[in-house]
Amino acid sequence: MPPTLDLVVPCFNEEACLGRLVDRLGALSEKLLREGRIAGHARVVLVDDGSSDATWEMIETAAQTARFQDGIEIKGIKLSRNHGHQRALLAGLMSAEAEAIVSLDADLQDDLCAVSRMIDAYRGGAEIVFGVRASRASDTSFKRITARAYYRILNGIGVDVVADHADFRLMSRKALAALRAHPEVNLFLRGLVRSLGFSSATVTYDRAKRVAGTTKYPLAAMVSLAIEGITSFSTRPLRYVTWIGFMIALFSLGYILWAVLARLLGITVSGWASIVGSIYLLGGVQLFALGVFGEYLGRIYLETKRRPQFLIDHEVRSDEDKET
Ligand code: UDP
Ligand code: MG
Repeated sequence: MPPTLDLVVPCFNEEACLGRLVDRLGALSEKLLREGRIAGHARVVLVDDGSSDATWEMIETAAQTARFQDGIEIKGIKLSRNHGHQRALLAGLMSAEAEAIVSLDADLQDDLCAVSRMIDAYRGGAEIVFGVRASRASDTSFKRITARAYYRILNGIGVDVVADHADFRLMSRKALAALRAHPEVNLFLRGLVRSLGFSSATVTYDRAKRVAGTTKYPLAAMVSLAIEGITSFSTRPLRYVTWIGFMIALFSLGYILWAVLARLLGITVSGWASIVGSIYLLGGVQLFALGVFGEYLGRIYLETKRRPQFLIDHEVRSDEDKET
C-alpha cells in the first residue's frame, strides 16, 4: 500500500524562498499522487521559527489561498520565537500524522527528485531513509575540510552518524514514534535518528545552491551544532580530559624529580622561563578541562529543568479554511 505523506520544512526568514517552495512542494505532492507512489493525502508542514520578515504572513497566505488538487493540504506552525533549526524541525515532526514523513530545508537545496526514491525505499521496507550528498563540490573548501574533520572526530569518539547526511530524510510513523520518546533538549537530530536503529536505507542526491536568500547557519551556529553533536552523544571527551590531566601530572612528577636530582648534582638551573612556561601551559590545560566539564554540566542543567523543546504560538491549516 502506498503511504500518506507529510513534508516538514523549518523556515527562518525565508520570505525569498517561500513562494517557490510552496509551488514546488505542491507540484511534487501532485506528481507523487498521480504516480500512485503516495495515497490519498499529502501535507506540507511549514514551521516558522520566529522569523522577523514576512515568512509567517506568506505561510498563512499559502495555507489560505494555495490551491492544489484535493487531498493536498498546507499547514503552518508559528513558534513563539526563534528556537533554532533542530527544534523547529522537531516541532514540525511532532505534528506530523502521515505514514511517511520527509524533512527538508526551505531553500530547496535538497533535491526533490530524491523524495520519490525515498518513498520507494520506504515501500521496500526501510523505516528511515537518509538523504546523502553525492559530493561536496558545491561547498567552500573551508566547509569541506571542517566537515570531514568533524565526521572523523565524531567517529573517533564513537558517535554514529551517516556521513554527508544533514536533515533531509524520510521517517516512518514507527520511527517517528520512537523519536517522540526522546524528550531531550540537547538536540542533534541526525545523530538521534541514527541511534534509533530500525531498518534504514540511503538515497544519494546532488545538493543544489540556495534558490534565494542567504544561509541561516552562520559559523557560530555551526560550531554550536557541532558541539551539541558531540556532547549529546558521548562523554568520552571527559575521559580524554582526565587522561590529559593524568599524563601532565605524571610528566610534572618526573620533571620535579629531575630538578631535585640536578640540584643535588650541582647543575644549577636558572629556570625562570621554564617555570613561567609550565604555569601558562598548566593554566591553559586546566581551563580547557574546566570548559569541557562546563559544557556537560550546562547540558545536565538544561535537561534537568525539563523545559519544553519548543513553544507553538499559532497554527493554520488549509483544510480548516475550506470548511469555514
Ligand atoms: N533554520 C531554522 N531556524 C534557524 C536557522 C535555520 O528553521 O534558526 C532553517 C532554515 O530556514 C532552512 C534550514 O533551517 O530551512 C537550513 O538552514 P540553511 O539553509 O540556512 O543552512 P545551510 O544550508 O546554509 O547550512
Ligand atoms: Mg541551506
